Amino acid sequence: MSDLSSPVAAAVSPDKPRVLIVDDERFNLNTLHGLLKEDHKIMVATGGDQALKAAVTGRPDLILLDINMPGMDGYEVCRRLKEDNLTTGIPIIFITGLADAEDETKGLELGAADYITKPFNLSVVRARVRTQLRLKQQSDLLQSYAFRDGLTGLANRRAFDERATAEWNRCLRAVLPLSAIMIDVDHFKLYNDSYGHARGDECLREVAQALALRVQRAGDLVARYGGEEFVVLLPDADHASALAVGESLRHAVESLGMEHRASKVCDHVTISVGVATVHPSELGGLAPLLERADSMLYACKAAGRNCVTGLDR
Ligand code: GH3
Ligand code: MG
Ligand code: MG
Repeated sequence: MSDLSSPVAAAVSPDKPRVLIVDDERFNLNTLHGLLKEDHKIMVATGGDQALKAAVTGRPDLILLDINMPGMDGYEVCRRLKEDNLTTGIPIIFITGLADAEDETKGLELGAADYITKPFNLSVVRARVRTQLRLKQQSDLLQSYAFRDGLTGLANRRAFDERATAEWNRCLRAVLPLSAIMIDVDHFKLYNDSYGHARGDECLREVAQALALRVQRAGDLVARYGGEEFVVLLPDADHASALAVGESLRHAVESLGMEHRASKVCDHVTISVGVATVHPSELGGLAPLLERADSMLYACKAAGRNCVTGLDR
């Protein structure tokens, strides 16, 4: 998935595409490296374990994978890459001396995108690499449409739900707290009524940007939850730190100084902020965390809005 933490980040990186070449023979590595180095950022691995690590840390856009290697062979590398959520979307082209139909079928059935036999023809390799990278770029773009909110460029509800579930599991395993912040723009219906829907949309974009600028720690996520509501996920943040983030968000929006004549709070746009923290356990799940943050938000509204409410447990 492209980086959802930053708003309106380019869906497709303008950088050179990253290609990981995996082969135990120097000669093959050098030939492929020489062929592709001009237009691609090249990473190399000489064995299976190294390849798996490089795939996770380097996030290549394409992997050229040898099959016959000492230790873990290419089939096994492919199987493991396809099993891991972090690497399953990376296309793999097998480049191999195994030339019969059975080997090729096995590779393709494991989820490889293409299969090239050695000795390879350089222009064929280049053309097939180009094709797979084009497909990968298209699929990244579709992913970014599916997981981003069109109005604000933030992560959308679906992206939030997926990430929150993954982080809940991670915090459960690592025995870490998990905090969530629910945010709702105050008297936003009155904003639309007095300035019109288009200005309302612009206001939501500015609020989104202000929030995203203050949620920068790796692993944190800010998303549009729906309408004029936003949600922030803070893995490994205790309640005191989450309250501090909540206050910085409230302050950031207030400081935008966006005029809101009709608001009953003050003469500019403000938000209400509900904060909750859980220590994930096998019992319960993500839902109680979000429900608690939501009820804190509700308490905020009742207390007069433009404030931060939390409750430790
Ligand atoms: P409160 O302070 O209690 O939250 O009051 P409120 O008026 O903000 O809350 P309410 O839920 O009554 O109204 C939310 C408004 O947000 C109504 C809806 O038209 C508006 N809204 C939701 N999504 C969008 C959007 O994408 N663009 C615009 N311009 N308005 C939106
Ligand atoms: Mg609302
Ligand atoms: Mg509101």
